[in-house]
Amino acid sequence: MRPIDDARIRASFINASQSERKQLAVPDLDAIEWEQRDFLGWRDPKFVAVGYVVLELDGALTGLLMRQFARAPQSRAQCSWCSDVELPNEVVLFNTKRTGDAGRRGDTVGTLVCANFECHVNARKRPRTAYLGFDVEAARRRRIEMTRENVERFARGIRDGL
Ligand SMILES: [Zn+2]
Repeated sequence: MRPIDDARIRASFINASQSERKQLAVPDLDAIEWEQRDFLGWRDPKFVAVGYVVLELDGALTGLLMRQFARAPQSRAQCSWCSDVELPNEVVLFNTKRTGDAGRRGDTVGTLVCANFECHVNARKRPRTAYLGFDVEAARRRRIEMTRENVERFARGIRDGL
């Protein structure tokens, strides 16, 4: 993704209140390797249950505030974005508030995602070669693409109230 700044990040949230946008902790943007990112995702050190995801969606920077559901999933879950099968990190259930009236009524959408949004790392891992002639690079590219599509589909659903 293209580099973005603090002000654009804060202005991008579609399901956060003005005070939530003001209070959120933006990560050290100079340390981000933007070309390795399909979206920017991070946890808030002040509000431990809260996570943020910012991505370019249909040409507009779109931010989502997500809250980790208190109860951990029963078994080791798979991330619905990167679908990593080796489960190198914790996957948790996030509830994401809908926009508009539904959100004001407290409607949320639940989704299982890597606890610290490690999806961009998982998607870029070299896949284990399955057989002779297996195109590792093509598989890796497909996985990066699939991850981006999954995040976009999710964000679009929140944005459009689907
Ligand atoms: Zn993931």
